[in-house]
Amino acid sequence: MSIFVDDDVLRKVATVIGGEEAVQVAMALKKFKEATDDQILSYIAEDAETEIKLNDVRKILFKLHNHSIVQCDGVRDETTGWFIFRWSLQLDQVEGFIKNQKKRIIKILQERLDYERSHDFYYCNTPECERLPFEDAMEYVFKCPTCEKLLQYFENKKVIDTLENKIAQLEKELSE
Ligand SMILES: [Zn+2]
Repeated sequence: MSIFVDDDVLRKVATVIGGEEAVQVAMALKKFKEATDDQILSYIAEDAETEIKLNDVRKILFKLHNHSIVQCDGVRDETTGWFIFRWSLQLDQVEGFIKNQKKRIIKILQERLDYERSHDFYYCNTPECERLPFEDAMEYVFKCPTCEKLLQYFENKKVIDTLENKIAQLEKELSE
């Protein structure tokens, strides 16, 4: 199965999983199709600005493996009898990873939206302070616990609209 995943998407996913070093490992794998950790290391080491070590490469490979972005095949070396591990990208899983991330974000946004819809908020209008739900505002007798200014009703329609739009956009992306 061949699935088209462009470099930008692969970079983003690798960054989320293991930062800049994971990007380098993923791009090396993309170039080689299949490679050992040593091959990946020497490819990355050609770039003089990196000081990545074999152990780092291995750690990243395991992280990517945990998310099924790479797979690993162990092959016995005929001469030495040792196992050689060859790593390769599973590009079809990259798409699955992105979908799962989006689903996770939708869940968080939905919980946030439910919270916004089911509460009335009070706010002192000081940028550094936080809005308080009615129950908490009442406990502080409508005086901000941080800056002591009066807490006023806060219209959260804009917050709700923003959350709804973001959720709708992500759901549209998932259905594409
Ligand atoms: Zn305040």
